Amino acid sequence: MFGGYGVSKAQRVSIGLYDTCATQQLELRPLRAGYKILLGGRMTPLPVDVPLRVQRQGRNLVFQHDSLSLAAADHVAVLHADPNAQIELTLVQPKGAPRTYDGNMSLFVDFGRVMCLNLVDPENYIAGVALAEVGGRAKPELYKAQALLIRTYLMANRAKHLEEGFNLCDQVHCQAYKGSASAYPEIKQATQATAGQVVVDGEGNLITSVFHANCGGQTASARDVWLTESPYLLSVRDPYCRKSRGAAWKRTLPLTDWLRFLQSKGVATQHIPMRGYVYRSETREGMYELPGGIAVPFRDLREYFNLKSAWFDVAVDGGSIHLTGRGYGHGIGMCQEGAIRMAEEGKKASEIINFYFKGTRIVTYQVGK
Ligand SMILES: [Zn+2]
Ligand SMILES: [Zn+2]
Repeated sequence: MFGGYGVSKAQRVSIGLYDTCATQQLELRPLRAGYKILLGGRMTPLPVDVPLRVQRQGRNLVFQHDSLSLAAADHVAVLHADPNAQIELTLVQPKGAPRTYDGNMSLFVDFGRVMCLNLVDPENYIAGVALAEVGGRAKPELYKAQALLIRTYLMANRAKHLEEGFNLCDQVHCQAYKGSASAYPEIKQATQATAGQVVVDGEGNLITSVFHANCGGQTASARDVWLTESPYLLSVRDPYCRKSRGAAWKRTLPLTDWLRFLQSKGVATQHIPMRGYVYRSETREGMYELPGGIAVPFRDLREYFNLKSAWFDVAVDGGSIHLTGRGYGHGIGMCQEGAIRMAEEGKKASEIINFYFKGTRIVTYQVGK
């Protein structure tokens, strides 16, 4: 198993990079002296700043380098003893922008593509996800809250990709990760300030540490969206995010599309007058109630019409449906734009966590929990 995080802090986690990209060719460029390439049991020093091109050829990796001659291999690792050393990765085929990563790389051929794993210190990974999730300009308490949730997710899900040989992928399927946050010392400091800490529920279990962009003024309960009860994923009135970027949206849809979808859900639209589709609510509701006692879950409408959120008013005008929505995302757990505002108003990370996740505690992670 790669990097069984949880036994010791020194152990690295393995993150599958560009998992869905079908990579055929890439370049690695050490940004610090001291990187070595481990190939066929032999360690060869890699010169700093000189790119190493890696290409798939059948089941093998072949290498191109200005000063080294390297034999083909089915697996290769690029290693540095210091977990804070950095290396740049650039996809060549398909093309990608260069990204900087902390730590080591492990490459092999799998399912007809070059699979690239970043073997990274967990705290460096957490800082990287915090940067990918909220950018580089938030307050330290927001980064601390975000780091607690990212670490909790990592601990709870570190076996998610184990069958493929790594802990987590770098996509939103797990947590968005685009490499190092070392250019943002304030993110690394905030992450370090919470090192080893996670969020647990009343029984001491790691929470489902979800977050979303903007709740629109009221978060969603897990029951309404996922149909599973949770003692801490409850609907919370949020006064902090209402003036933020993601707080409101509008969308117009053809009435025929709207009716067709409702019919597919068993609604007898021929018996409903146009005004029957009008809907207004000051609070976040689970169901779109229609005349005749029929109701359709808002989450189904959101999913089918690809709407920004599942909280919206409905108006009818001739052949069109006008939606006026609140929030952006599934609405469960921490509202990021609300949390950003709370941190700006001087709230602590623990207050932010307890506001969005009711009855939870921040504890030092213990193996076996
Ligand atoms: Zn994943
Ligand atoms: Zn909110």
